Amino acid sequence: MKNAIIIRYCEIHLKGKNRGFFEKLLKENIIKSLKGIQHNFTQMHSRYLIEDFLDEDYDIIIEKLKKIAGIHTVSKAIVVPNDFDDIFTACKELCAYKKGTFKVQTNRADKTFTPDSMQTSMLIGGKLLETYPNNLKVDVKNPEFTIWIDIREDKKTFIYTDVINCMSGMPVGSSGKGLLLLSGGIDSPVAGYMMCKRGMKLNCLHFHSYPYTNEAAKEKVIDLAKKIAEYNGGINLYVVSFTKIQEEIHKNCPEEFMITLMRRFMMRIAERLANQQHDQTIITGESLGQVASQTIESITSSNSVVTLPVLRPLIAFDKIDIINISRKIDTYETSILPYEDCCTVFLPKFPAIKPNLEKVIKAESRLNVEKLIDDAFLNVEKYVF
Ligand code: ATP
Ligand code: MG
Repeated sequence: MKNAIIIRYCEIHLKGKNRGFFEKLLKENIIKSLKGIQHNFTQMHSRYLIEDFLDEDYDIIIEKLKKIAGIHTVSKAIVVPNDFDDIFTACKELCAYKKGTFKVQTNRADKTFTPDSMQTSMLIGGKLLETYPNNLKVDVKNPEFTIWIDIREDKKTFIYTDVINCMSGMPVGSSGKGLLLLSGGIDSPVAGYMMCKRGMKLNCLHFHSYPYTNEAAKEKVIDLAKKIAEYNGGINLYVVSFTKIQEEIHKNCPEEFMITLMRRFMMRIAERLANQQHDQTIITGESLGQVASQTIESITSSNSVVTLPVLRPLIAFDKIDIINISRKIDTYETSILPYEDCCTVFLPKFPAIKPNLEKVIKAESRLNVEKLIDDAFLNVEKYVF
């Protein structure tokens, strides 16, 4: 009798030729994530199996698997030979600390095994009731827990009670590469997570405004990047100084366009960096109407300076829904730390809510845009997590 972890993935993506690609990538991502943890990894048609791990590593492994896009559910199982007595012994052990209503559900792929599935479920259920008359009761319609018995052709039987939901989605690396504009706020880490879930491999870009923003603000973004890295199989974070650009806009352009113009610079810098490392898209945490810079007019203005597609996975999300996801992925507590972001310095009293593109371009013509961007690239810090 030994322990195993069964990993199931979402079959929906497995149509036709994609299947091999998907499975190979998911397998690589799992192996990479479990590096350094003792285990044995095998594939058994349309599932993966982890065996020979240390008991004390079980929780660590599950936490890692929960962060791998493409995994649908996992179960900790007991593995025994296809032998009725062994199966019962395992079920008895599984129920030793259980209380409540249950049913037994058997799946018998090994047709040489007797009795059949129905009888196995009934016999095991009956024997469990005899063993634990005070704790267990059968309820086949609405049980509090189910004992799954999976009798396989390769003469192994898997027995488990819990099915743990994981991320689902598609394996990271299956949907291209993108550059996430990562601020210290709540939204952009969530936007990054959502793209990882759809299989996109991310790099991050952060703008800081030292000395207007401090070292703690940067540390906060580093912490957020590390959190996203857990879903992304590692991450590169690029940090670019935005101070000079902000000072120039502030000095030369109408105050109302401060944020609009900043956004256009951010997009241009993001596009240049993305092109350098073959990222195919820019990702932001914008949500329609959330603030002045996220009206359709503002978005049109920032979009119009780049040709790469800009993905905004949160565009139709309410703040409360974004917060719920940020809690789930454990970025919320970091995001709400009260450090200044570059967007909060030089904040105009009355920002243009619906900036007129012609006026924006006219205001911008007072700046040497190309030179400012070239200068920004002179000092790019890179962190690898
Ligand atoms: P967030 O919670 O992600 O900070 P927000 O609601 O504060 O978003 P904005 O400040 O308007 O909204 O920023 C919109 C988007 O622009 C962010 O989601 C992020 O993708 C990008 N962004 C903002 N500030 C920065 C920054 N300092 N560095 C990199 N990207 C940024
Ligand atoms: Mg912000």
